[in-house]
Amino acid sequence: MNILRKNPEEINIPRPPSGVIRFGEPMALHTTFKTGGPADIWVRPEGDCFPGYAAELFGFARREGVPVFVLGGGANLVVADRGIRGIVLDSGGWTGWEVKAGRETPEAAVRVRSGTAVDALAGALAEQGWSGLEFLAGMPGSVGGAVWMNARCREQSISDILIETEIIDMDGVSFDPLRVPCKDGDFSYKRSPFQGRNVLITEARFALKKGDPEELRRTLAALRLDRKANGQFRAPSAGSVFKNNRAFGKPTGMIIDELGLKGLSSGGASVASWHGNFIINTGHASAADIRALTETLIGKVHAALGLTLEPEILFVGDWGES
Ligand SMILES: Cc1cc2nc3c(=O)[nH]c(=O)nc-3n(C[C@H](O)[C@H](O)[C@H](O)COP(=O)(O)OP(=O)(O)OC[C@H]3O[C@@H](n4cnc5c(N)ncnc54)[C@H](O)[C@@H]3O)c2cc1C
Repeated sequence: MNILRKNPEEINIPRPPSGVIRFGEPMALHTTFKTGGPADIWVRPEGDCFPGYAAELFGFARREGVPVFVLGGGANLVVADRGIRGIVLDSGGWTGWEVKAGRETPEAAVRVRSGTAVDALAGALAEQGWSGLEFLAGMPGSVGGAVWMNARCREQSISDILIETEIIDMDGVSFDPLRVPCKDGDFSYKRSPFQGRNVLITEARFALKKGDPEELRRTLAALRLDRKANGQFRAPSAGSVFKNNRAFGKPTGMIIDELGLKGLSSGGASVASWHGNFIINTGHASAADIRALTETLIGKVHAALGLTLEPEILFVGDWGES
């Protein structure tokens, strides 16, 4: 019998030694869009048990034929109103980092657990006089999500500073962590080699340089303020909806703005009046509203200009037949 048809208390899923497991957890609680239906099983291991527990969980999921979705900060997701079938492994309790520096050299590297928030990491490193991650200041989400997405801000991508990742291959023969060096060509604009694969990124190692803490602090404050001034946190969203495409000759937000599509709505989802590439949840948006508005924008831009917009936000979970 499919375990997902059993009562929660009858499911013999491994429990994390520390952390939380819940059945029917609303994903709206775990996404920046504040939308999304229930995950059958949501589990958030806390602390050092994470990689060992994840391996045990993957073994269980494989035996039972249940899919596992890895959740970072939920900052780039539109989870279906029907929710997510199977297990959601929330990496948010797997945080921390360690800097390794030679005594005489100005270069160093930081090894980071994947659930660590990128903004917090950039801030903490700056306080210690380590430069490299400032461009990520103010960006919501985790290190694992940023590497998976190859997140990009201010003309810099996370792959520019990535040295290697440590992953667990959910489809692998074993669930032992594997080191994957960051090689030229594996990453490109908003693409990583982990997309389309069943992997858990457990750690990432980034290159650092010595910097002046005071100057770094100022840079971070300015970048965070800039995001705030752009209205990025005025309403729930997942950041830019569409990728930019150099061939279009201008940013996607400007294209949408010039076509007069700011403010366009579908149910509770609306194109932000202050940013053409942001769809916001005005308070009661369903995931279906957000998806419908995304599709309307694609259709209108294509009809007007012949350009095909490519969504950057990810539509995940159980969308039924739609
Ligand atoms: C206000 C706002 C501003 C934003 N600005 C930017 C910006 O400037 N640049 C930019 O690139 N993005 C931006 N974003 C989008 C978002 O912050 C990034 O895409 C971020 O990297 C997503 O990370 P996350 O941890 O939230 O990932 P999630 O949204 O949780 O997941 C995204 C994908 O990564 C996978 N994933 C997450 N963690 C792991 C892991 N440990 N192992 C394997 N797979 C994993 C998930 O399965 C999913 O497929 C913005 C979002 C918001 C809300």
